[in-house]
Amino acid sequence: MRRELACTGPPSMSELLDFGCHVHAPDFSDAELATLNDRFETRPAQAAIEWAVEQFYPFLCLSASMTDAVLIDLAVKVEPSIEVVFIDTGYHFPVTLETVEVIRRHYGLNLRVLTVPPQPAELWKADPEKCCSAAKVQQLDRALVGKLAWMSGLRRAEAPTRALAPIIARDLRGLVKINPLAAWSDQDVAGYIADHAVPYNPLLDDGYPSIGCRPCTERVADGDDPRSGRWAGLDKTECGLHL
Ligand code: SF4
Repeated sequence: MRRELACTGPPSMSELLDFGCHVHAPDFSDAELATLNDRFETRPAQAAIEWAVEQFYPFLCLSASMTDAVLIDLAVKVEPSIEVVFIDTGYHFPVTLETVEVIRRHYGLNLRVLTVPPQPAELWKADPEKCCSAAKVQQLDRALVGKLAWMSGLRRAEAPTRALAPIIARDLRGLVKINPLAAWSDQDVAGYIADHAVPYNPLLDDGYPSIGCRPCTERVADGDDPRSGRWAGLDKTECGLHL
């Protein structure tokens, strides 16, 4: 396992760059990633978060959809100052934006909200791939500049496309991606929310088990695939953030 951090001086990226230092994402081999995944598969989510903070903080952030604050709740218990990124696509339900503020205040979060430049009207209807690319993926790219690793609340139980999600992975940028909740079931999440009084988006109680942008998210009938309300009627199943 190799971690290249050319200097260990001041913690902020700007200070490092001022001093001419450069950081590089660790070059984990496939075998090393497999070993890490084996290790964390049988441990609580907190263990993967602790490892990530120890390895990468402060060059680490947490990307949050704000559907609920389970991962945030776990992460701030390890590192209260961890940077939490929320991408404001400009298309969110108003209640989602209210939830962002509730969660920010509840935890006193180090929250970074990324906003999106104006897009062509109804691009989501004309070309949802282009819309997701501009409003989500490119904003995450921006959020990850200067980072070595990022965490997300991705879970295998959320969708068939996520069924094989590892806990530790290398993303397409070459950064380390940590999915501490990958093995959690829906019941695990609901239980944690109840046990720890974790804030969550009220839309979850209003027929929206998977919450995205307003134009691309519909209510789902009881018993239906929870993600069937996302881009309903289209082949599209993912926004691209987790590819
Ligand atoms: S989910 Fe819909 S509105 Fe949101 S970025 Fe993707 S296409 Fe655009």
